[in-house]
Amino acid sequence: MKKCDLCDLLVETDGFQLATTEGVKVFCCEGCLSVYRLLNGDKIND
Ligand SMILES: [Zn+2]
Repeated sequence: MKKCDLCDLLVETDGFQLATTEGVKVFCCEGCLSVYRLLNGDKIND
């Protein structure tokens, strides 16, 4: 099972994914996704 790339909680669904220059990141919730997006805006492909 995957872990959230921000907080290390287990990710039970693939609902929160983000394509970055370092590959696809997965997150446990929308909050972690948006924090990651804020911290790593330069790595995001879209
Ligand atoms: Zn998380």
